[in-house]
Amino acid sequence: MIPYGKQDINQDDIDAVVDALTSNFITQGPKVPEFEKTITDYTGVRHAVAVSSATAALHIACQALGVTKGDIVWTSPVTFVASANCALYCGAEVDFVDIDKTTYNMSVTRLERKLIEAKAIGRLPKVVIPVHLTGQSCEMEQIAKLAKDYDFKIIEDASHAIGGKYKEAPVGTCTFSDITVFSFHPVKIVTTAEGGVATTNDNELAQKLSLLRSHGITRDETLMTEESHGPWYYQQIDLGFNYRLTDIQAALGVSQMKRIDDFVKTRNKLADRYDDLLSELPLTTPKQHVDCYSARHLYVITLLDEHKHKDVFEKMREMGIGVNLHYIPVHLQPYYAKMGFKKGDFPASEDYYNRAISIPLFAALTEAEQDQVAQALKTALAS
Ligand SMILES: *Cc1c(COP(=O)(O)O)cnc(C)c1O
Repeated sequence: MIPYGKQDINQDDIDAVVDALTSNFITQGPKVPEFEKTITDYTGVRHAVAVSSATAALHIACQALGVTKGDIVWTSPVTFVASANCALYCGAEVDFVDIDKTTYNMSVTRLERKLIEAKAIGRLPKVVIPVHLTGQSCEMEQIAKLAKDYDFKIIEDASHAIGGKYKEAPVGTCTFSDITVFSFHPVKIVTTAEGGVATTNDNELAQKLSLLRSHGITRDETLMTEESHGPWYYQQIDLGFNYRLTDIQAALGVSQMKRIDDFVKTRNKLADRYDDLLSELPLTTPKQHVDCYSARHLYVITLLDEHKHKDVFEKMREMGIGVNLHYIPVHLQPYYAKMGFKKGDFPASEDYYNRAISIPLFAALTEAEQDQVAQALKTALAS
């Protein structure tokens, strides 16, 4: 089976992990800050806080922004459940903004319309979480303008998008947001096995994120409520978690970050090649926004004929092509349906769900494998 996504591990990665494993520190040594520095250097952002997953990063990002009971957080229905769950962890409510039909990202038009309605009834969101689906940035400048007008904060869920650019700047610089979150799960662009990072330009938010990552405990005397009792002393000044990344994982991340531009370049080359190979088929290939250079985490096709969707999906799997579907709209998940969401609430997202298929795309995919995927699609669509 050709998987839809897969990590690319070379000998340098293995050596880096072995070095970390046999060093004095297998967690909380020099590798975590070194990994964080690769992210700040790469994106140009001021702070990067490494954590155990993007899910953890989303959680503490919400908490650092003060999301709590009585607040509302908005995200896209077409995302992994973690983009919405983070608000529930903080006791807040979740609502969704339907997607744009061409980019599949949160629609700015619908966002503005929903903000006008929400303002009228006094239910504006505290935080909006745009998700850069497949690695293509949302229209952040417009969203940031709305954030000023309607007084909400922005967390970019850039789990798919490290290595991508928006208006020539790397995703993660937080020019148009308060916090950006990356994932380093093995199917993503670069990996630490499990891992996440939250970036921000705000010193106070960075400090909160660091505290929340490790129990709310500090050894920084300037943050303490009284003078230190001695060299052993630390204080818990907030309620945090154990969301730390290990040095073994960070070592893998440092090594992987050296190849990020190659990974993204290769993914873009393969995506362009798919565009050509599939151009005659009854399907839509991914549209690229002029302001974006996508990290190309996923290559999502949407079928013109939704009635063939399940059949094509099954046939592809039978032919050894590990297709997938990103994502089942979050509002249709039973846990969310219990909150009152139902079919018909977000029609563009639901229409996307009825047509979308992610076909294999990863840096190590060969052109021969790609030809095999295209051929299988042709066969599946013809039957
Ligand atoms: C993968 C992913 C996450 C969660 O990432 P983890 O690192 O696995 O916690 C969150 N949001 C989106 C959009 C993702 O694709």
